[in-house]
Order: sequence, then C-alpha cells, then structure tokens
Amino acid sequence: MKADKLVKRARELAAPFRVTSGQNFRLKDCDPGNTLEFDTKDKERAKEALAQGVQALSALQDKLYAQDQWAVLLIFQAMDAAGKDGAIKHVMSGVNPQGCEVHSFKAPTSEELDHDFLWRCSKRVPERGRIGIFNRSYYEETLVVRVHPEILGKQKIPRSLLTKNIWSQRFEDIRAFERYLARNGVLVCKFFLNVSKAEQKKRFLARIDTPEKNWKFSTADSHERQFWNDYQQAYEETIRQTATEEAPWYVVPADNKWFTRVVVAAAVIDALDSLRLGYPQVGPGQRAELAAAKKELLAEK
Ligand code: ATP
Ligand code: MG
Repeated sequence: MKADKLVKRARELAAPFRVTSGQNFRLKDCDPGNTLEFDTKDKERAKEALAQGVQALSALQDKLYAQDQWAVLLIFQAMDAAGKDGAIKHVMSGVNPQGCEVHSFKAPTSEELDHDFLWRCSKRVPERGRIGIFNRSYYEETLVVRVHPEILGKQKIPRSLLTKNIWSQRFEDIRAFERYLARNGVLVCKFFLNVSKAEQKKRFLARIDTPEKNWKFSTADSHERQFWNDYQQAYEETIRQTATEEAPWYVVPADNKWFTRVVVAAAVIDALDSLRLGYPQVGPGQRAELAAAKKELLAEK
C-alpha cells in the first residue's frame, strides 16, 4: 500500500477509539471485543495490516529522529493481562532502538516516595527526536491509588493536603503537565487497553496451565479482580477528566490481541503523521560543503 493511503487507513482505524473530550465518555459504551470490520477468523489480514503499519512507523520514526524537534510519549495503562507488553513489543518491533525507550513504573520505591508524584515520570520524558513509552505511569495515581486509598497514607504527603479534593487536584495537575509537554513539543498519546473481566480470567487460567507462562502469573493480580468494578470506575473517571485534544486517550478493545496491536500501531502512525515530519532541509552553505566533500572524496588516490 502507498504511504499516503496507509496513513489514511491508519487514521480510519484509530479514529473510532480516540477520545479527545471526556464529556460524553462512558466506558460501558466501549466493547472490549470490538474488531471493526475484521472478522475473528481474519487474523491473517490483520497481521498483514500490522506488518505494513510497522514499516510505515519505522519510516516516520526515521524522520522524527533526523528532525530532532518533536518528541513522542506513548503511555500504556490497563488491567493485568490486557496485553500491554505484547502491544509494545509488536508495535515497536520495526523501530530503530536508538530512537526509542521503554520505562516501566511499578509500585514506587522509597526514594520515589520522597518526591512529588510526577517526579519519577517527568525524569523519563523522551528527548527531542525520540519515542518514549511508559508501561504504566503517573496515571496509577488516580487508578490503583484511588481504588486502594490506603496507599495515599504511605505517600508522605502532609496531612493537611490530604483532602477530599485530592483526585480533582491530581486530574488538574496531570492536565497541566500534559499541556506543558505539548507546548514544549512533546506529543502525548495515552492508551487504555480495554480487556473484559471474562477474557482476563481466561488469560490468567492460561498462565496457570501453561508452564512457559507460569512466571507471568501473580496471585496478587488475580486478587485485584475483586476490585474490578472500582477499577472500571476509576478508569472511566480518569479518562473523562484527562482526555484532551493535545493529549488524547485511545480506548483500545483488548479481548483480541491481534486487533489491539493493529489499532495501537494505527494510532501511533496517525499521531506521527500529524506532526508533518520531514528531513532537515539543507541550505546553500551546507550544499556547497557537501559538494566540496564529495570532490575531496572522489579525488582520493
Ligand atoms: P507485568 O506484570 O506484565 O510484569 P506490571 O506492570 O503489571 O507488569 P508488576 O510489577 O506486576 O508490573 O506490577 C506493578 C504494580 O505496581 C501494579 O500493580 C501497579 O498498580 C503498581 N503501581 C504502579 N504505580 C504505582 C503507584 N504510583 N502507586 C502504587 N502502586 C503502583
Ligand atoms: Mg503485573
């Protein structure tokens, strides 16, 4: 497929899942099993689409790196076993590792707890020309922390600041942080991989039954299933409060891994294309330098 057609196709694939304003967003309207016009028996066609997408991504990343002005931050959030790791691995498989970095954020260390909640992530915002991926992020602060508010008590925040406004304050601070990044040339895209409770159960059972997958299983993860509805509510509220034009959320159906990957790749292509990237232009002075260097090289004995 030609590059411009591919970008158009990517835009069409990503658009239904893009949320830029929270006002009318309801998680219950998002079907984790949605595969658009792709049939579940149609995996091969989807894989082909992904391979083409990965190629297009690689070309766009090359320009991003050469231009060295914009940075791209991709944030991945999801319930356990929704496929974050696989999506990151497959979608970024064709990009140049020099221009890409992945950071995972687990439960904060004691050093991290000695700082404000954005500190550990803001240190990892990608530099110009790069794609940065956050596997979990500061969004955990309005997700797991909201579902288990006792975590707040361990965050060493002065008591007088722990009021009922803490969540709306966090949303406001996150919006401000992302607007700040946007104004500095960091394009932020956020992905919520939306898996259903039934599919998560299937995947946990597969982790238990398949020896090669045993290492992925944690009893703590399956324990969190008790809080499923609380998490859904926390995700909905978080997306409602932080979906903006400059830093959109993509709520990606995650019950079919092959489809998740196609949509994530499409969204990243669309985002990169929106930057109108191009290779740096060479001025007359530099062109003369190139010509002189060429002459010298050709004159070598
Ligand atoms: P995987 O299980 O695929 O290796 P993961 O991202 O689930 O990846 P884990 O080490 O299993 O990694 O879990 C990380 C845990 O850390 C999650 O349960 C997450 O909710 C928690 N976490 C992340 N950030 C915070 C935070 N700011 N406060 C409290 N808990 C957090
Ligand atoms: Mg885990």
